[in-house]
Amino acid sequence: MARYTGAVCRLCRREGEKLFLKGDRCYTGKCAIDKRSYAPGQHGQGRTKASEYGTHLREKQKTKRYYGLLEGQFRSYFDKAKKQKGQAGENMLSILETRLDNVIYRLGIGSSRAEARQLVLHGHFLVNGKRVDIPSFLVKPGMIVSIKETSRKSDKIKGNLEASASRVPPKWLELDGSNYMAKIVALPTKADIDLPIAEHLIVEFYSK
Ligand code: SF4
Repeated sequence: MARYTGAVCRLCRREGEKLFLKGDRCYTGKCAIDKRSYAPGQHGQGRTKASEYGTHLREKQKTKRYYGLLEGQFRSYFDKAKKQKGQAGENMLSILETRLDNVIYRLGIGSSRAEARQLVLHGHFLVNGKRVDIPSFLVKPGMIVSIKETSRKSDKIKGNLEASASRVPPKWLELDGSNYMAKIVALPTKADIDLPIAEHLIVEFYSK
């Protein structure tokens, strides 16, 4: 699956807020948006107030970037969400949250979603006892996600788990740290998602 490979701090500067794409660095004084809080490029400091279309577009772009997705895949999640019962925007957020790479990030095993995605691609995780190396795999309530036994000694995974030990996972994930596993106990709702996303703006963007 294709992915964005450019400088990720530019994406935060473009959106005018921290998207936390670089793990630990985002919490230090090295964060690019703390140093230059204006959009990148020649006209970055001269942008005027966004139009209604621009506001909708930026919300969609920001959300896409939080989850590290390109347009095609993001749009396909929206289309899927529209077909489900309930509100399309909230359904879409719930689908995005249940991606395996996001689950690994939420559990603190990856320091960023990009790193979690790499860890999934390298085959470090099992779902219901079977190896799954597809970052877009969608988990469901009742499933068990675990770290492969041989991967539990990985310096990267051990370091991330130590660094995130004080972080409380969202309540739809039941972590059993001593057994390197977590159970999906529910589907995430909007209230479980700690990102400043106005999903109705994304719905409006795609409804035009
Ligand atoms: Fe964004 Fe993190 Fe880069 Fe700061 S360090 S600009 S939050 S990716």
